[in-house]
Amino acid sequence: MYDILIVGGGTAGLTAALYARRAGRSVLVLEGGGFGGQITASPLVENYPGIPSISGMAFADALTGQALDLGADAELERVAAARRTGDGFVLTAGGRSFSGRALVLATGAKHRKLGLSGEERLVGNGVSYCAACDGAFFAGEDVAVAGGGDSALQAALFLSKRCGRVYLVHRREEFRGEPCHVAALKKRENITLCLSRQVTALEGADSLTGVELTAAGGVRERLPVTGLFVAVGQEPDNRVFAELAELDAAGYVRAGEDCRTSTPGVFAAGDCRTKELRQLTTAAADGAQAAAAACGWLDQAGL
Ligand code: NAP
Repeated sequence: MYDILIVGGGTAGLTAALYARRAGRSVLVLEGGGFGGQITASPLVENYPGIPSISGMAFADALTGQALDLGADAELERVAAARRTGDGFVLTAGGRSFSGRALVLATGAKHRKLGLSGEERLVGNGVSYCAACDGAFFAGEDVAVAGGGDSALQAALFLSKRCGRVYLVHRREEFRGEPCHVAALKKRENITLCLSRQVTALEGADSLTGVELTAAGGVRERLPVTGLFVAVGQEPDNRVFAELAELDAAGYVRAGEDCRTSTPGVFAAGDCRTKELRQLTTAAADGAQAAAAACGWLDQAGL
């Protein structure tokens, strides 16, 4: 029986683990993908206080090592079921059960898909959701990036250093991402902005050979690209926990800045919870807060 079970090994979950360990609590982190979470897909992080510049992968590696060195247990298993018991919670993952007195949900969010025909089939053969992971496969080739937030802007900047031409396709005229990223990409000669346009079709049987764009007025055009990097935001996946914690209409766990959910003993941290700003810094802050709240709850319960 662990003191605290943490679901998700991204920035929020790992920060919760290191705070809980420093408070002397036993901790198990369950992660279904890879430790480090979403930030591993970020080529460069330049807005984390005190660290002027670091790759997402290096940040994730350091944080994972820090949590493990402090004695957090970790399992690379996706949680398939969760239930409340008389004295805590039981999570089922990889055919095994794990028990804990308190639960921190730090499940993050998943890449949103465009929902186009062939999108799933072409993943790994031209369609990617991670420029930092897959950009090197497209050296010298022409590629497109879909999206107008920081992920898309950063992906376009990153790819412009490796690829031939980079088409940044965004459905509006204004970008959602930071103005400094917009200014930087406007200076790159091999980035073409395709604004008020959407990717509406993918071409290619075995691998991507081009994409179709449709402009706001309905005019269609074809881009002869071999790579499409989809960076159109994230969506949560908290269905497994719907019986344990209240979710909002979009599927985020309802919790305030104190990271408490409506269920005693269940806390939510990072991108998976209802919040205004989903950033690395706010994920880390949530991890600390959720751990403190969970430790306080255990102390109060005399556990
Ligand atoms: P985001 O900010 O939610 O942006 C998603 C973009 O995709 C928006 O421009 C949106 O268009 C567009 N979009 C959504 N659905 C679409 C669809 N079906 N078809 C076409 N376009 C679609 O997501 P994000 O860029 O992944 O960033 C998520 C959070 O992480 C943000 O808070 C961001 O600042 C942060 N982040 C931080 C860093 C960093 O700190 N270094 C790096 C990456 C991301 P509209 O604008 O029209 O809605």
